[in-house]
Amino acid sequence: MHGLSRKGLLVGSAALLLVGLATLGLRHNDEIKTIRWPVMGTIAQLSLRGETTRGEQIRPLVQKTYLRLDDLLSAWNPDSELCRLAASNCPDWVTCASSEVKPCYAAALKLAEQSDGAFNPRVGTKLRELGVSGGSSYSDFDLGAIAKGFAVDIAAQKIIQTCTNDLPDLLIDLGGNLRVVGSGVWRTGIRNPFDRQGPYVGVIALTNGESVATSGNYERFIERDGIRYSHILDGRTGEPTHGIAAVTVVTPAHYGALLADGLSTTLFVLGPQNGADFLTRHYPEALALWIPDSPTAPHIFASKEMARRLNYVVWPLDTLER
Ligand code: ADP
Ligand code: MG
Repeated sequence: MHGLSRKGLLVGSAALLLVGLATLGLRHNDEIKTIRWPVMGTIAQLSLRGETTRGEQIRPLVQKTYLRLDDLLSAWNPDSELCRLAASNCPDWVTCASSEVKPCYAAALKLAEQSDGAFNPRVGTKLRELGVSGGSSYSDFDLGAIAKGFAVDIAAQKIIQTCTNDLPDLLIDLGGNLRVVGSGVWRTGIRNPFDRQGPYVGVIALTNGESVATSGNYERFIERDGIRYSHILDGRTGEPTHGIAAVTVVTPAHYGALLADGLSTTLFVLGPQNGADFLTRHYPEALALWIPDSPTAPHIFASKEMARRLNYVVWPLDTLER
């Protein structure tokens, strides 16, 4: 997770722009206070509506959570638990890992199995061979596609445990992995992957502990002979994926940010048709949006429920009927 290039962040007066997504206040006069700091090789954000002082109280708890998980899950720190497990001859990661991170390993292995290897936590070696900056690490087993989402879930859990009677209206963001805490509604704008300053591709309102994650090839990529390749590889072939510019996934609270993160990577590899089939089969409550890598004729594929919930869509949209 360390060593990722910093993703562009812009703050407007009325709107807060996030990675691949922009959060907009529901009403124009909503007061949103945002705290932002670097961690885990990316940017963490806490956005609070209304009670503007509580962010500074919540932040240490969230930061402690991220640092702890980085110690356990980083593929970049040779002393992390993950790197120590990689160097050991533990036969089963879920058994050997600390109890607090077992669900992260379990979800990664399950996604790998369900997707027949399209999602593959062992692509790190290949990324390293290809020379992508994100691919040099101390472990051949890399949870980079899922660990930030997991960290967001744990942070949300800690906040809920700590603020039992007085839950803030909050949006957590870790490097483009967002989760709603509390009962508020957060409108998030999906960024144009071809023009990050351009109008949003669409807007979706999140509520009730929902999460959203975006995987894109526009911020991190491999360049070989002047050609750009995605930093997401097809885990079945080890080759860079092509054809997709960005995938956005929304998940309900019981799937969590962990699955939004893992699924955005998986669906990036699978593409719209196979991806929609995959969701129907394994994660029917997840919503997904694919933006093909065709800047001259931009269009969108959306799962049925995503198409229903997406507003202000600027490009032609194909609904994947399932
Ligand atoms: P980002 O980290 O840019 O937000 P993702 O969540 O999609 O994007 O994760 C991309 C990272 O996941 C890559 O940098 C790499 O470490 C890892 N990765 C790449 N391809 C795969 C794959 N097929 N399966 C699992 N992990 C992958
Ligand atoms: Mg991911």
